[in-house]
Amino acid sequence: MDKIIDYVADVTGERDRDAIDLAVAQALFECLDPDALTLFRLFEDDARERRLMPRAVFGAGYQSPLATVQLNRNLRETLPRVVDDPLVERCVNQQAAVRGSAADGRHRALFPLASDREVIAVMEVLTRDSMSPREQRMALGVLRILRNHLAILDYSEHDTLTGLLNRKTFDGRFNKLVTRVSRAEGEAPWFAIADIDRFKSINDNFGHLFGDEVLLLLARLMRENFRGGDKLYRFGGEEFIVTLDRATADAAESAFERLRHRVEAHAFPQVGRVTISLGFTTVLPGDLPANAIERADTALYYAKENGRNRVCGYEHLVSQGLIVPKTARAEMELF
Ligand code: GH3
Ligand code: MG
Ligand code: MG
Repeated sequence: MDKIIDYVADVTGERDRDAIDLAVAQALFECLDPDALTLFRLFEDDARERRLMPRAVFGAGYQSPLATVQLNRNLRETLPRVVDDPLVERCVNQQAAVRGSAADGRHRALFPLASDREVIAVMEVLTRDSMSPREQRMALGVLRILRNHLAILDYSEHDTLTGLLNRKTFDGRFNKLVTRVSRAEGEAPWFAIADIDRFKSINDNFGHLFGDEVLLLLARLMRENFRGGDKLYRFGGEEFIVTLDRATADAAESAFERLRHRVEAHAFPQVGRVTISLGFTTVLPGDLPANAIERADTALYYAKENGRNRVCGYEHLVSQGLIVPKTARAEMELF
């Protein structure tokens, strides 16, 4: 019992989800003493299909947290799909612990690790004997505490109006994006700022409530437009940030362009047509949030100055001589 309290104290002190799921798996392994426990992380592939990524394996005499490598796209798509395993599917969809048996006849229990918003991981526990009611109660109790903890984390990381990630979260996550630079040939992470065109006049003509409704619907269009691994933030009033983990320049531009088009084509209730302008830039080695924001903002400003309802890439504008990069500007001012 003392051991469990220690684990719960450790886990609820963690803020990083990668560390939380590992700590919970470890706690359950030590407390239940099963044959084996495998922690799977849930992710969406590029086609928005939910799959299981093995994250750690615990067994008698061994524990092996698997490296959280960025698997390349082909490999990611070979991982098991949630829909291929009925027990996993029930666990994920009902967000409930489920029991069945493994192919070798052992007892198989699956525990979801969930916040109110989503299931982030699934733990598979294999045992020779079925779990005692006391063990089951204990495991479920730990997961309930964790669910509350994850829900509080979720709340602090998301914007209340749109449900997208908030600005504070962006500041903490930008570094992860920088570590993805130069991992894959020809692909890079991308950073974009989208800003609603003439939003002030929407508020003035229809009132703030309709303005808020536009923000909400735009957030939904954004979710539909991007892939599971892409991150969406509400940056401030009517400004949004999109980050793409890995994409070629063409793929990034067409994803942003697709959003612009989608928004333009959407009929917003009462308000009718709404457009956005978007500035984007590639994330550089050692990049700082302030620098990426400045480059994307420069491209956004260009889009606004040149007709709005446009997508502009910073690097392209520089190579075309349409804007002057900041370092060159500073040098010119010296002379
Ligand atoms: P531009 O095309 O140049 O971007 O014009 P704009 O009117 O969108 O730009 P500006 O930055 O002048 O105005 C943004 C407006 O967004 C100002 C403010 O009234 C409104 N706004 C900011 N936050 C919110 C919000 O949370 N809800 C609503 N309804 N309006 C907001
Ligand atoms: Mg603005
Ligand atoms: Mg605006």
